[in-house]
Amino acid sequence: MKIHEYQGKEILRKFGVTTPRGLPCFSVDEAVAAANSLGGKVWVVKAQIHAGGRGKGGGVKVAKSIDEVKQYAGQILGMQLKTHQTGPEGQKVRRLLVEEGADIKKELYVGMVVDRGTQVVCLMASSEGGMDIEEVAAHTPEKIHKIFIDPATGLKDSEADDIAQKIGVPAASVAKARVVLQGLYKAFWETDASLAEINPLILTGDGNVIALDCKLNFDSNALFRHPDIVAMRDLDEEDAAEIEASKFDLSYISLDGNIGCLVNGAGLAMATMDTIKLFGAEPANFLDVGGGATTEKVTEAFKIMLKNPRVKGIMVNIFGGIMKCDTIAAGVVAAAREVHLSVPLVVRMRGTNDDMGKKILKESGLPIISADTMAEAAEKIVAAVH
Ligand code: ADP
Ligand code: MG
Repeated sequence: MKIHEYQGKEILRKFGVTTPRGLPCFSVDEAVAAANSLGGKVWVVKAQIHAGGRGKGGGVKVAKSIDEVKQYAGQILGMQLKTHQTGPEGQKVRRLLVEEGADIKKELYVGMVVDRGTQVVCLMASSEGGMDIEEVAAHTPEKIHKIFIDPATGLKDSEADDIAQKIGVPAASVAKARVVLQGLYKAFWETDASLAEINPLILTGDGNVIALDCKLNFDSNALFRHPDIVAMRDLDEEDAAEIEASKFDLSYISLDGNIGCLVNGAGLAMATMDTIKLFGAEPANFLDVGGGATTEKVTEAFKIMLKNPRVKGIMVNIFGGIMKCDTIAAGVVAAAREVHLSVPLVVRMRGTNDDMGKKILKESGLPIISADTMAEAAEKIVAAVH
């Protein structure tokens, strides 16, 4: 799950990380009131969307008067902000963060992820802040420093100080950088984050170390432990089909192709998408109905796939283990009837009760195309949509 920059900064502040003072706003009037209440002479008006690269796309503007705050808030609110992370259609801006302008002397980079190889949290830091870290990694990887943090000790003082020095924090500010790095690690750990990024982390003219941007993603499997974080969810930023699917406990990810797939098991779903691609077409979605799919769940899955106007055909691929093929077949037939299925449907099922399942499909009278292997199913659905 993702949250907005201003929400991430609220969390960071709780863990002792310094950020500029700022207020979230939903209208131009609120933005003006926020700037007035923050005081000072320079404010930054920042689009709040769940994507980075806002600065380059025109979603971050420095205002030197209240009039400019008003002008920029008016421009940014409601704009369709395009960045390298939003896709070509961009994302509509519905919220702003108005914060005090910081005195930037140097922009640094700090990020944290769970490293799958070593199974610990990895801290990455670089002197090259404010730009795409992917660019730095591609062209000057030696400028990215890493620490694999031992969960038993947390981020040690010596490790924090060492990495701060490596990214160019002057000696007088190392203790302040340590507070930020250790605070970030603690925040990451205690919120069950999956990714954290402060880009840029800045050194100010007076030697302070401040988080100027903040990106936090959380492990959705741990959200039950964090109702305060769940409350930060912004459904406007999420894919409508994915939200609908999550209500029925379906693992669904929207993709760009035209063949909907309904599969039980995440691994089989991945393999199904690969097979569709192998035969020259693209999947419209990833969908794992899980081990305990009921008729209701299968029907909802069909409805969600068919709401996507790009879907020109559906491939069902089921392995009957705990889930019996006749149950799934009954679900597919009921769902196809309920949604008045209008696109070709290929069903491949193997495993427990597959004979019974095939019989149900055949006797339904529906134009369901049957297949025995994954390759055959993929070939048939690709042929049917072309
Ligand atoms: P994004 O990464 O989405 O482009 P950032 O929050 O990193 O958004 O902002 C982009 C740039 O805008 C920063 O690298 C920094 O130079 C400038 N900036 C952002 N917030 C402030 C601030 N409070 N004061 C001064 N400059 C800022
Ligand atoms: Mg940034």
